[in-house]
Amino acid sequence: MVEGKWGSKVKIVSGNYALSVLTKLRDKRTGQIDFRKGLVRLGRVLGLAIYNDMPVRKVKVETPLAPAEGIEVPDAENVVIITVLRAAMPLTEGLVKIFPSARQGVISARRVEEKGMKPGYVFEIELTYVRIPEIKPEDTVIIADPMLATGSTIVSVLKEVLKKGKAKKYIVASVIATPVGIEKILENYPNIDITIYTVAVDEKINEKGYIVPGLGDAGDRAFGG
Ligand code: URA
Repeated sequence: MVEGKWGSKVKIVSGNYALSVLTKLRDKRTGQIDFRKGLVRLGRVLGLAIYNDMPVRKVKVETPLAPAEGIEVPDAENVVIITVLRAAMPLTEGLVKIFPSARQGVISARRVEEKGMKPGYVFEIELTYVRIPEIKPEDTVIIADPMLATGSTIVSVLKEVLKKGKAKKYIVASVIATPVGIEKILENYPNIDITIYTVAVDEKINEKGYIVPGLGDAGDRAFGG
């Protein structure tokens, strides 16, 4: 895992497995089923990276033969995963493999693309369904959204999440992020402990708010338009 120019605030999940799955997702020839499978796989990869960064507690256990030393990861039992509909659904499927006891929330957030992108890479965000569990001080909240483009969606989602209580830590789990999106989140939420996990950072956002080269519209590709 690589830390980029944002220090420990952004973790780039590298490695052959993650990058080869991402390459398949970027490829325009990849069809709906393989695209969705790829997002599930990267959900697992991101979940593992998040898990491996959590603090550990040393414990002693008894095997059938003798005492042994081991570890527990207490924070993994206090995870809330927020799925930003709809593209994050397969990503959440992968994350849940790593955090099976996670409580879950969903938010339907749509960029109002008809109104265009405003200066500063800002989209109006329409939230039509918000269902988030109570957040407790010991929780780690993972917001799953594969494409962190302008950051407008995550800024709106975080506003809703924060209404439900203050967590120990906030994480954005994305597949491709942009510098604009990352900086917008960090600037809007300087006072919470937030880390962005992503597989790649692409520099460019086009005039329609899409990441370039990116992978296209993740929701359309995963769910068939
Ligand atoms: N959402 C997507 O699905 N793709 C992008 O490039 C940007 C936002």
